Amino acid sequence: MLVLKDEYDVIHNFMLLDAHTHLKINKLEGLVPSEFVRKFSSIVKDVAIDIKKNEKDYRFRFPWDLTDRPTDYYDYCQKDAYSIVHPGEDLRGVLDKYMGFDFIITFSANLTSSLPRDYRSANSKIREALIEKSPDDNAPHNNFRFIGFGRLDPNHSDALDAFDNAFQLGLRGLKLHPKEENFEIVGERMEEILTKAAHYNIPVIFHTQEGMAERVKEVVDNTIKSLVDTDKIQMVPRLKVILGHAPWNGVGNNGLYKILSHPNIFGEISTLRPESFAEFFSNSKSQIKYEGILESNNIFEQDWEKVEESYFRYYGYNNFNYWSSKLLFGSDTPYPPSHSVPQLIKHLFSKEFVGNATDIKNILGISALRLIPPIAKSNIQEEKEQASTSLKHHPTQLTQLKKDSKALGMDPLIDVFPCARISGAVFSFLKEGRTESWLFRSLFSPNKPMNMVIPNPHDLSDSSILTATSTLTQCIEMSLQED
Ligand SMILES: [Zn+2]
Repeated sequence: MLVLKDEYDVIHNFMLLDAHTHLKINKLEGLVPSEFVRKFSSIVKDVAIDIKKNEKDYRFRFPWDLTDRPTDYYDYCQKDAYSIVHPGEDLRGVLDKYMGFDFIITFSANLTSSLPRDYRSANSKIREALIEKSPDDNAPHNNFRFIGFGRLDPNHSDALDAFDNAFQLGLRGLKLHPKEENFEIVGERMEEILTKAAHYNIPVIFHTQEGMAERVKEVVDNTIKSLVDTDKIQMVPRLKVILGHAPWNGVGNNGLYKILSHPNIFGEISTLRPESFAEFFSNSKSQIKYEGILESNNIFEQDWEKVEESYFRYYGYNNFNYWSSKLLFGSDTPYPPSHSVPQLIKHLFSKEFVGNATDIKNILGISALRLIPPIAKSNIQEEKEQASTSLKHHPTQLTQLKKDSKALGMDPLIDVFPCARISGAVFSFLKEGRTESWLFRSLFSPNKPMNMVIPNPHDLSDSSILTATSTLTQCIEMSLQED
């Protein structure tokens, strides 16, 4: 999180998410979770210091002092995850404690074994690495800050099984590497994998470079066509494909921006070099068009209004910021593309950047969060008082829950209007064998609204697998009204 003030003294809370990192497991390259937290915290502090020092270059200000207090890893990942919704009454404390990346999407590096590769044990190691033990009582909890993705090699005979396995482990996305695992992007196998991804509602990130984007678009269109042909049109918006290293397909390549206009395709921007920042974002802004949905031929022939409505409902798209809702910040840590991260973040806050505050928020995290499937299950059939009923702080309930249950995870709720931001979160716990989900709303203390609009929870997703008829938020909202 990075808290800044704009020229009207309005405070903006920028949630930060890295959509491409490698977690250290076995002897493979990567960082361990605590290294990520420390590294990212120092990057964000460095950005804040630069904004403070060179005020004239930036559109935002950082008018506060910074201390050298290091981030407490367990507090950050577990105890204080709640700060995403309530950064606390005291801004001083927020600035000190929560400077860093709010979420980190992470997966294993390439296996070194011969092809085809079996990623199943690497995937379960990723899962294990994201379980933390509480220092008080050694109780295991899922790490709130990290979002694990699975990997698989499509050429492996058990690839589909590896996918089911990753999903059952609670991994919330899939990473595929066509170059490293040397597989065909366009083909029946990939359509099977993408159909399964749509079924599970999980995003798939491809490593892409030099011309791979075109082939990814082709297989996405083929998959959509077969979903439509088999009467599964409602599954179409659940297909979420991310071009990893999107700029590697050519910053000056107009075809790339046309592909990124496709409603099911997103771009993760690691490998973007400082000399191309301005060109890439200005091309993105002028060429990633909402109207691009219409050009996606296989969908266009269908019941267009129905399709458009379902995309809108699903992603909560805002026509004005469509282009930035297709771009995801990513670093590829620990590999070389991550070296330009501080410069990239600085560029986004600088006067040179072509977008507005919502565009920055989209790119730095909201765009990616929209694609992550929620963990929470509806409590509608259970006791009603489990949902938080007002815009208050709930420190006692949360402490109590953390004490006698296991943390499963947190689903942030996203607002798209009037600005993209997190307006609340659902925390899920495992208690006596049952999942309990609690909704916590509001960003800042109601006593100090800090110029923020009163939040209005917006659906994170429209998952028919989690709830039969209503979305997660609708269920919780309904139970609130009945109180
Ligand atoms: Zn990578």
